[in-house]
Amino acid sequence: MDTVMSQLKGEGDETRFRDAAKILKNGGLVAFPTETVYGLGADATNEEAVADIYRAKGRPSDNPLIVHIGTAAEIERYAEEVPESAWKCAEAFWPGPLTLIVHAKPGVFAPSVTAGLDTVGLRMPAHPVALELLKTSGLPVAAPSANTSGKPSPTCAEHVAADMEGKIPYILDGGPTGIGIESTVLDLTSEPPAILRPGAVTADMLRPVIGEVNHSAEAADAGEEAPRAPGMKYTHYSPDAPVWLIEPDLGQIRNAVTRLRGEGKRVALIAPEGFGETGSDWYFPTGRLNDPASVSGKLYASLRACDGTDADIILAATVDDAGIGGAVMNRLNKAAGGRTIRS
Ligand code: AMP
Ligand code: MG
Repeated sequence: MDTVMSQLKGEGDETRFRDAAKILKNGGLVAFPTETVYGLGADATNEEAVADIYRAKGRPSDNPLIVHIGTAAEIERYAEEVPESAWKCAEAFWPGPLTLIVHAKPGVFAPSVTAGLDTVGLRMPAHPVALELLKTSGLPVAAPSANTSGKPSPTCAEHVAADMEGKIPYILDGGPTGIGIESTVLDLTSEPPAILRPGAVTADMLRPVIGEVNHSAEAADAGEEAPRAPGMKYTHYSPDAPVWLIEPDLGQIRNAVTRLRGEGKRVALIAPEGFGETGSDWYFPTGRLNDPASVSGKLYASLRACDGTDADIILAATVDDAGIGGAVMNRLNKAAGGRTIRS
């Protein structure tokens, strides 16, 4: 299959959106940018189309997909008994990087969307391209991240092409995404509501809006409790070489690099700007020190860049876990499988 990479330019974009919407309506797949990462979209009511998402990604069939909607009012159409908390969250955080798990209205979505669960994840994304595609197609669009399963999520159209070239008909190229890590997944069917996957919308931001929030998923990464989202056991976010976490301290990183190179290893380093003088074989500057939001935007691109090297080991600098930093550390911990270099 030929993959069309269609760059959005302002002028003439209506045709591009019309083409993309037509593909979706005919059961095809379209990759598109959101403010978190690029999504791989299909008509959420079309079982064959949704099955194609799992095929293109090599995604395990028991890992459900998020359904993207163009307006908050659509919650009513797709959820059975909408809890008050859903309206409050939508009001406060939509469009935005928050996925709400609610009871699905039976018989609306293709069975594969929910992977056999009676709940569905709904999100109204805050990216003009995603919103325009949703509006033009008029469809609920099931869309996981547009990467091959087990690879870091794509944060620019080139990442999507690297994984999906020849497998999908259309990529809407809207440039790099902003936030760079996936949405917060909030389960509103449990009491209290629970964060299943941390993201840019944190427990501290949710509490003033809906009261008590359980963030066991965040706790799970500290080794306190088992993860509960069905997809979590599959999420690797791993480049080819093993990742080890290390504090963003010039002296510590220099020592680690010297020791590893002394053992004959080639070292790639993912660290904030200003860490170029550590002696590592490759250095991918990733955001600024003490500014986790600047790291989240670049993290996946840096992990992917490491795959383009011959590194034997990747050192990745940790971030402060306040705000979005908690979600960045969640992804870093997954990439590193918990491996940390301590001096
Ligand atoms: P991705 O689309 O690749 O960002 O992954 C979607 C994430 O949302 C996975 O971690 C899923 O397990 C989670 N998810 C989607 N739908 C549900 C649901 N109905 N219940 C719980 N988690 C869900
Ligand atoms: Mg994903």
